[in-house]
Amino acid sequence: SVPLSFFGGIGGASKCGVLIKGSNYLEALAKTETVVFDKTGTLTKGAFAVSGCFPQGISRDALLELAAYGEKDSSHPISKSIIKAYGKAIDGSRVTQVQELAGHGISVRLDGKQVLAGNAKLMEENHIPFEAIKESGTVVYVAQDGAYRGAILIEDEVKEDAARVIEELKASGVRRTVMLTGDTRAAAEKVAGKLGLDKAYAELLPADKVSHMEELLSQVSEKKKLAFVGDGINDAPVLARADIGIAMGGMGSDAAIEAADVVIMTDEPSKIAAAMQISRKTLRIVY
Ligand code: ADP
Ligand code: MG
Repeated sequence: SVPLSFFGGIGGASKCGVLIKGSNYLEALAKTETVVFDKTGTLTKGAFAVSGCFPQGISRDALLELAAYGEKDSSHPISKSIIKAYGKAIDGSRVTQVQELAGHGISVRLDGKQVLAGNAKLMEENHIPFEAIKESGTVVYVAQDGAYRGAILIEDEVKEDAARVIEELKASGVRRTVMLTGDTRAAAEKVAGKLGLDKAYAELLPADKVSHMEELLSQVSEKKKLAFVGDGINDAPVLARADIGIAMGGMGSDAAIEAADVVIMTDEPSKIAAAMQISRKTLRIVY
């Protein structure tokens, strides 16, 4: 049977915007040793804005048009920024064969020609000769029927409360903080450095995130737990694998909210530390 004070703990957490889906997770939160974060949409706002265009042999507008049409059905936060920067209405009838390529980008047919938009890995795997952009933001490279058409630089911002997350987690007993991201090393290091994370792994495909998660799980001390915090976009398999899967409830995907053990309703990562403090207090009352 579940001790009564556990209900108090779950109630207290829900009052501060954290939904804990069972007393076992309240207990697990109190024993968390490692917290692993996704980057985009979790520690950063996921509200990208285009900050530079590098067209190759076409106009800036033509580059944005290719990318915006490519991204029109994507659920990734990157897509919104590109569609916004393009700024014109999109005629969906020009687009067919839409494919979202997890950890890479997208592929569509626009007016019958293949358009690819995504990271360097996407260009490399499709043998597109491209010019690497060395700025610290996220870069979306664009190709049309095998020809390189240019790059779009987009930047994301760290969430306001993310700066204190790591400190607060350490204060509530967490010993290790890690970030797993599909984004570039430069983008990852910028965020990890700013926040003081212990470790950041970058340029990961969804499958790489799972293998890193398994490695991290194997390093957790006996009777201690590992929590993963993500938005569910490209990270649902990792969320499911963690001892405690924590999802962002506001902008996360419905599937992630469903699959998660804990949901942060306000999308503020600092709420995890608050929930941990509540869970530790509750457990001290019980035992
Ligand atoms: P994160 O781990 O930071 O949440 P994701 O795994 O969602 O990142 O995506 C990894 C990378 O794949 C992105 O940084 C981007 O380079 C590329 N990518 C994914 N989806 C798209 C898309 N719709 N358009 C362009 N690039 C994309
Ligand atoms: Mg993400």
